[in-house]
Amino acid sequence: MIVIDGSEGEGGGQVVRNALALSLVTGQPFRITSIRGRRPKPGLMRQHLTAVEAACAIGGGTCDGAAVNATEITFRPGRVRAGDYHFAVGTAGSTGLVLQTILLPLALADGPSRLVLEGGTHNDMAPPFDFLERVFLPVVNRMGPCVEARLVRHGFHPRGGGRIEVAITPAPLRRVECTARGPLVSVAATALFAALPFDIAERELKAARTILDWPEDAFRVRQLPGDQGPGTVLLLEAQFAHGAEIVTGFGRFGTPAHQLARKAARRMAGYIAAGAFAGPFLADQLLLPLALAGGGAFTTVKPSQHSRTAADIIARFTGRHWHFVPQADGTHLVSLA
Ligand code: ATP
Repeated sequence: MIVIDGSEGEGGGQVVRNALALSLVTGQPFRITSIRGRRPKPGLMRQHLTAVEAACAIGGGTCDGAAVNATEITFRPGRVRAGDYHFAVGTAGSTGLVLQTILLPLALADGPSRLVLEGGTHNDMAPPFDFLERVFLPVVNRMGPCVEARLVRHGFHPRGGGRIEVAITPAPLRRVECTARGPLVSVAATALFAALPFDIAERELKAARTILDWPEDAFRVRQLPGDQGPGTVLLLEAQFAHGAEIVTGFGRFGTPAHQLARKAARRMAGYIAAGAFAGPFLADQLLLPLALAGGGAFTTVKPSQHSRTAADIIARFTGRHWHFVPQADGTHLVSLA
């Protein structure tokens, strides 16, 4: 039995999700203690519990101790079964993070699956749907499986109510080298909003334009039906020949629109200047699929604590170690030993 101290490293929900995915694929049971031990309110939240329940459902496994606020669980995987599944977080918790828990086990299963996931689709501190669809999944698809995701309805914090549908056609995972992103092909800045004053979106774009020297027609406002709100996000997207990045500014009560937009724009400008393939979030999310493919490499900006923690959990289940090697141009080359 693998025993994990959930307060080590980043000490958040990602440790639980990666352990579940690795357990399902490798067939090794695990116990995790001090779950989310570095968060102000430790223990499983609804979103993490939904990920545990989803892992049990697709993997025919059992989990002792799974409950909201639980700080210790023991998970024993069974055999992963392809099929049609429906999971609802029940709060605005991220559908994307539930998806990332079960995606790779299902992408390696014995038949196609269809998922319906309900909850949040654009949550602070989680990959927004657009990021999954246009930044993360293209890399997974390049590895062999065919994963198509569709956003049916947006879900913002605190209301939730979002819905995504995902079709997964499995295939063995091929190794990929994501070291060069190629030339910049297109850019877009979209201020998405629902049930909020129009000028919030306009102020987001105006502030982003003071930092990003992008063509005027790259900046646009997209108003969603009022019943999908209230909520707003600024999505800054850079499409390269071999990859993409989306930097998101999440609207939050009390955070001025221009402030979230400038912060996001500075991060996008920094990413474009850096020349790496993966931004900090994509980097920690790529470690699992590449490790399950048995190898591969990518370049990224400075490795985050999330990345180092994901690498540690992967090593516990697979015995394989990720290396983060600084390059002369300031990027890091990440490869599996
Ligand atoms: P907690 O941190 O409260 O335990 P959690 O389970 O939601 O909760 P983390 O362990 O912090 O979260 O993991 C968050 C994941 O979301 C990471 O994989 C990170 O790469 C990803 N992520 C966070 N923000 C973004 C973003 N703006 N774009 C893409 N991915 C993101």
